Amino acid sequence: MTAKAVPFTAAELEGIARRYPTPFHIYDERAIRETARGLLGACAWAPGFREYFAVKACPNPYILKLLREEGLGADCSSLPELLLAEKAGITGERIMFTSNDTPAEEYRRARGLGAVINLDDITHIPFLAAHAGLPELLCLRYNPGPLREGNAIIGKPEEAKYGFTRAQLLEGYQVLRDQGVKRFGLHTMVASNELNPHYFVDTARMLYSLVAEISESLGIRFEFVNIGGGIGIPYRPEQQAVDISAVSRGIQAAYDELIRPRGLDPLRLYMEMGRMITGPHGYLVTRVLHLKDTYRKYAGVDACMANLMRPGIYGAYHHITVMGKQDRPLDTLYDVTGSLCENNDKFAIQRPLPSIERGDLLVIHDAGAHGYAMGFNYNGKLRSSELLLKPDGSVEKIRRAETVDDYFATLDFSRL
Ligand SMILES: *Cc1c(COP(=O)(O)O)cnc(C)c1O
Repeated sequence: MTAKAVPFTAAELEGIARRYPTPFHIYDERAIRETARGLLGACAWAPGFREYFAVKACPNPYILKLLREEGLGADCSSLPELLLAEKAGITGERIMFTSNDTPAEEYRRARGLGAVINLDDITHIPFLAAHAGLPELLCLRYNPGPLREGNAIIGKPEEAKYGFTRAQLLEGYQVLRDQGVKRFGLHTMVASNELNPHYFVDTARMLYSLVAEISESLGIRFEFVNIGGGIGIPYRPEQQAVDISAVSRGIQAAYDELIRPRGLDPLRLYMEMGRMITGPHGYLVTRVLHLKDTYRKYAGVDACMANLMRPGIYGAYHHITVMGKQDRPLDTLYDVTGSLCENNDKFAIQRPLPSIERGDLLVIHDAGAHGYAMGFNYNGKLRSSELLLKPDGSVEKIRRAETVDDYFATLDFSRL
């Protein structure tokens, strides 16, 4: 069994846990910065390349700020996400607003911020025009439907609620052109947590062909294609990370074949990766509270599904390291459980681990994206704190844990 590394020793983590009570999420700043740089470096060939970090994956302004410092923008889908991006200093066309079923107020705010607006449906053209006015630049989201196979998390494109059909796309751009929109983008997102690099090359190829076809038939000029997010991460120790350079080279070949010869160059390439940027570099740290031995062995920890719900809702694998016992044999099968009154509140099921004692610190890996972010308060569970492990080894608290007062903040007990 291959191990997965952690960016601290057992003693260092004990020290951190003495100052900041468990459970907490801790993010590795150095590794996040390196991943962001690696993506920008790999795509340096692409004119005007931009990565808009999907805020929903890790909506903490300190993380957004360090990504901004690396040159990333923000992909937002709601009003609070727009405000977070703004607070982190990400403004104007560095914000992509990719929403769906969008309230008028959110369009107004996105317009006010000068964000790039990415429309999910043809009926949103008149809706946007009526509520916020049409900007000079607009992007439309394509759903290829049966023309494209989906993948496990996002499902089949024809069953997905997102985007325009091909026919609607042509009609949409024509309407926009006739109403004076001058700058155009084309977006799609057809995969989530996908580890096959060809998938992203095929997506870019599909968008490049479409840009060529629509530019020619409508006489409009596209400024960018946005291939969305969805690059997966190796949650399991035996999986391989996606080779970003190979993805980039494949997209470059498609660009040279489909875009350059038609005089459509320069056409910018945009991405909205979330998971691959922060996912592997966030850890949920939790302490073992109880050991229970019934029909199975259970290790009950002080975190629960409210801190990380991917295992509970998707049956997703998250690797677990028992700190200080990395060299011991994995000789005991455990269900690692939280305290929700829901039997799917399990971080791992029948997982071989070294023999666990009460008080052991467990590190749950790959919790840096869609982890804290998906938290909830069911069963009166409070959201935990978020910490940043700085390149010099120091630790900064970037979000405090919720208290009971936070949980009660929306209630008025005085009228009871
Ligand atoms: C969720 C989402 C992303 C990010 O997906 P990852 O799997 O985190 O890369 C990007 N764009 C849109 C529109 C999304 O809904």
